[in-house]
Amino acid sequence: MQYRVEGIVIRSTDYGEGNKIVTLLTNTNGKAGVVVRGAKKLKSRHGSLSQLFTHGEYLFFRSSGLGTLTHGEIIESHHVLREQLDLAAYASYAAELVDRALQEEDAGAFMFEQLKACLGSLAEGKDPLVTTQLFEMKILQAAGYGPDFSACASCGNAAGPMALTARSGGILCGRCAYKDPQALPLSESALKLLRVYQGMDLRRLGNVQLKDETKQELKKAMRLLMDTHIGLPLKSRAFLDQMDKYSI
Ligand SMILES: [Zn+2]
Repeated sequence: MQYRVEGIVIRSTDYGEGNKIVTLLTNTNGKAGVVVRGAKKLKSRHGSLSQLFTHGEYLFFRSSGLGTLTHGEIIESHHVLREQLDLAAYASYAAELVDRALQEEDAGAFMFEQLKACLGSLAEGKDPLVTTQLFEMKILQAAGYGPDFSACASCGNAAGPMALTARSGGILCGRCAYKDPQALPLSESALKLLRVYQGMDLRRLGNVQLKDETKQELKKAMRLLMDTHIGLPLKSRAFLDQMDKYSI
């Protein structure tokens, strides 16, 4: 059967002599593995279609399992995301999250639009930390772990300082925080941002400027949520951590 999809390359691996297998997140068919023959030949028309982060129109034939690319057109190559080390690290993390953390049935048109917006925001120079954290929140929500930050998960109290609770899926108030020994106290500005992450579509992200201490707090908060609910050892995240440590 012939497929015509819009897709974004979330994984690209060598396959045999000069070929590649790409995993696409598509707008209509979830994730799809496609063999790109001759992708590594210098003059291959298909070479750039098999590069990580490329957004394009892909035509492929598939009877079962892997498809075979028959034709494709690039919509956005996102070369800047492959050329700049820091951007490449953030974009790789987003792609690996879709590849590894998202079940097939959760990879619908909405996630395609979110990944497209995530890569676009990174390429446009929007804050990469905010962009990827917002994307992490969309992944959590798609996977069924979207937290609720409206009120205390235990007593319903909506006022006063709150602490993040990953295991109860939201926040706990001062009176209830003891119920989760891992609960992470949140400043007012960090909680405000988490609520924005919860409610915002990545396509609407503008230019955000955050104080360094708010960023540090959000890093801990999102890490707690991701470790509790997704818990995958991702190579791209280990690299981001290294970058952070040595302030590259
Ligand atoms: Zn409470």
